Amino acid sequence: MPFTRFGLSPAVLQGVRAMGYLEPTPIQLRAMPLILEGKDVIGSAQTGTGKTAAFALPILSKLGTHGPGPRLIVLEPTRELAAQVETALHNFARFTNLRTAVIFGGVGYGKQLEALRDGVDVLVATPGRLLDHLQRGTCRLDRVQFVVLDEADRMLDMGFLPDVRRILDRCPRNRHTSLFSATIPPEIETLIQWAMRQPQTIEIGVRRSPKDTVKHVIYPVSDFQKADLALELLRRVNYDSVIVFCRTKHGADRVAGLLKRNQHAVAVLHSNRTQREREQALRGFRDGRFEVLVATDIAARGLDIADVSHVINYDVPQHPEDYVHRIGRTGRMEATGDAYTLMVAEDVRHVNAIEHFIGQKIPRVKLENFNYRYTTLFEQGKPGQPPAGGGRVRGARVRGGYFFGPVRRRR
Ligand code: AMP
Repeated sequence: MPFTRFGLSPAVLQGVRAMGYLEPTPIQLRAMPLILEGKDVIGSAQTGTGKTAAFALPILSKLGTHGPGPRLIVLEPTRELAAQVETALHNFARFTNLRTAVIFGGVGYGKQLEALRDGVDVLVATPGRLLDHLQRGTCRLDRVQFVVLDEADRMLDMGFLPDVRRILDRCPRNRHTSLFSATIPPEIETLIQWAMRQPQTIEIGVRRSPKDTVKHVIYPVSDFQKADLALELLRRVNYDSVIVFCRTKHGADRVAGLLKRNQHAVAVLHSNRTQREREQALRGFRDGRFEVLVATDIAARGLDIADVSHVINYDVPQHPEDYVHRIGRTGRMEATGDAYTLMVAEDVRHVNAIEHFIGQKIPRVKLENFNYRYTTLFEQGKPGQPPAGGGRVRGARVRGGYFFGPVRRRR
């Protein structure tokens, strides 16, 4: 079904064409008609499914032309997501005269005040800074017609729900509200009941199983050899660009330092970095200046970064859905990718939870000719047995009673 069938405005359709989209994705197919009808929509969908266009195209069509505003506000958990979503909205609206702006913390107020004074139709914001503007009286929400709560479960994790409620309290009650969230925990359910009117739920796009294009394996290792193994993996892998995921900001800094000392061009992305540092990191990684991006989950959530050839989970993620999300950073569109997870003894519980969540066993592998020290984890690899089911491990071999990993030498 082409985009022309939905009743989107001609100017928005022109924007879609300019973006090169040929066919709607499943979430777009289902969400766009509902939003165009004026329904409140809950989408259980993750980034990568096309959810931004799913809400942006119908709402921009309904907004039509520039007027007193803001009339659409989109709340995002992180600055990067806010910037990314504003760019997408700006692009979709480029053949209209609608004005978009983005508001987030960690930067000065000057440009944001200017945009608000000039008048915007669409405001994409992180909750804290938007609330700041509301309290200072530099922004009003009494003309808002549409609210989108994006990545609601992340906003909950980050403690933003009270701010979100305060913001919604300032919006007219007869607005339309859409909410997107990979999971719907009880707190979000309560928010839905309070903030939305007879919402329609769309449950596509919750990806529990990793993509076929990603080969994913686990490298069991003792804690004190973890850094050496990560370095050795990087040395042997034939990669174009790698994201290394760490659990904490402090851990990410430590790993980035280690990689830098070993002559890797590294960018770091976590929420303690300044806005300028975060932008530089992303830009440098996207344009190839940095070959490795070390990131925490929250900073990397939802970022649309194409062409990542490898993901290394330096730390096992604590939420199973983050595993799927992390390894989904590679193998995007039709490309293939590899994802390696380093597992130490204390990670076993989390790995079990991940395997239960994705419904498959992830192959345990060893790096050939790496000087391993013994850990009881190796006993769980069932020597002599190729791993059951799970990720494809092209190029892997059984040798010495253990399964050896798929790593290729660098060119
Ligand atoms: P999102 O889930 O909104 O972050 O979108 C993920 C990526 O898919 C972005 O790069 C979008 O530009 C792209 N995308 C979204 N919808 C379509 C579509 N219908 N056709 C092709 N690409 C799309």
